[in-house]
Amino acid sequence: MAKLNPLIRPLVQALHAYVPGEQPKIKGLVKLNTNENPYPPSPKVLAAVKAAVDGRLRLYPNPTAEKLRAKLAKLHGCQPENILVGNGSDEVLALATRAFTEPKRKAESGKRNNAKATVQYFTPSYSLYPVLADIHGAAKNPVALKPDFSMPSVPELRRGGKWDFHAALTFITTPNAPGGRGYPPAALEKLCRAQKGVVILDEAYVDFANENAANLALIFPHVLVARTFSKAYSLCFQRVGYFIGPAELIAALDKIRDSYNVNGLGQIAAEATLDDLKFYRANFKKIITTRESLARELTKLGFRVLPSQTNFILAKPPLFPAKVWLQKLRDQKILVRWFSAPEVSGYLRITIGTPAEAAALVRAVRAISL
Ligand SMILES: *Cc1c(COP(=O)(O)O)cnc(C)c1O
Repeated sequence: MAKLNPLIRPLVQALHAYVPGEQPKIKGLVKLNTNENPYPPSPKVLAAVKAAVDGRLRLYPNPTAEKLRAKLAKLHGCQPENILVGNGSDEVLALATRAFTEPKRKAESGKRNNAKATVQYFTPSYSLYPVLADIHGAAKNPVALKPDFSMPSVPELRRGGKWDFHAALTFITTPNAPGGRGYPPAALEKLCRAQKGVVILDEAYVDFANENAANLALIFPHVLVARTFSKAYSLCFQRVGYFIGPAELIAALDKIRDSYNVNGLGQIAAEATLDDLKFYRANFKKIITTRESLARELTKLGFRVLPSQTNFILAKPPLFPAKVWLQKLRDQKILVRWFSAPEVSGYLRITIGTPAEAAALVRAVRAISL
């Protein structure tokens, strides 16, 4: 490492920041790398945002996202006190890390992890979690999923000896990313029941799944469910995500967030989205249909495609290493995602685009395989 700058905390100097998927500006590129929705927001959402762009931009937005929280509460059958909205779900995940986890004390580093200072998550899962732990100076407890990326049962976790049932904070991506598998609510419930600290079920992709576990956030005093408008609701650009959860935990998070953490246009876009859910449900169906047909096509071409309950698939390519496929596809103007982590370095993660984009990918794969 370069010489330390005494002006900057050593923790920050040592930090490996989160690496977002690339947003390249290459003409004609088929962009299947960041799980964005291929379909634009509903015309009603676009109209609502456009209608809000005037002199009112000088005003602060509603500080508590009051209307949006009321609509979300109605959708999920709870009270507004059970909802916390953030600048994307990434923000609410970061707030939870700060609210529920202690930083490691200096004397502790190197010793056995203190549960109160432990952020726990499965690997592979969302690569932001370890970064949030590092930023906060908390300890990390990564625990491997099974080789097929299914979730170990509670008895298996007990036998494994690595899982910490007292960890201050446990993140579970469900359906999993980048694996794509959905985890049954009954299995999630058993794990929540066994866990002493806070559990966050990160349901970023749940609209593409057959089932969800949102009710667990309204049953247990220590469970939060994270949702986002980014992926299923085509609003990455607006940055709106939220937690559903017990009022006491939500109130704690509310205390430490920025006063105006959700921008005004984002609130308006999200409210209009909730008024037009029918439009989005049709999109989910289209994406699921494309997902299943693309999985069949790639399987025919020799890929091993894992089952997916999301808007992406994880697939092990034939003939060349996955990293070589990444470049070969890029040469054909198709951008997918490859992760260097050893559990997944043999796979490509492919976002489900439109049927035309899926067809372009299949054509490129055929050309490369010849
Ligand atoms: C994309 C994603 C998020 C973040 O969503 P934003 O609301 O855009 O911040 C959170 N969790 C997982 C698993 C994701 O894939």
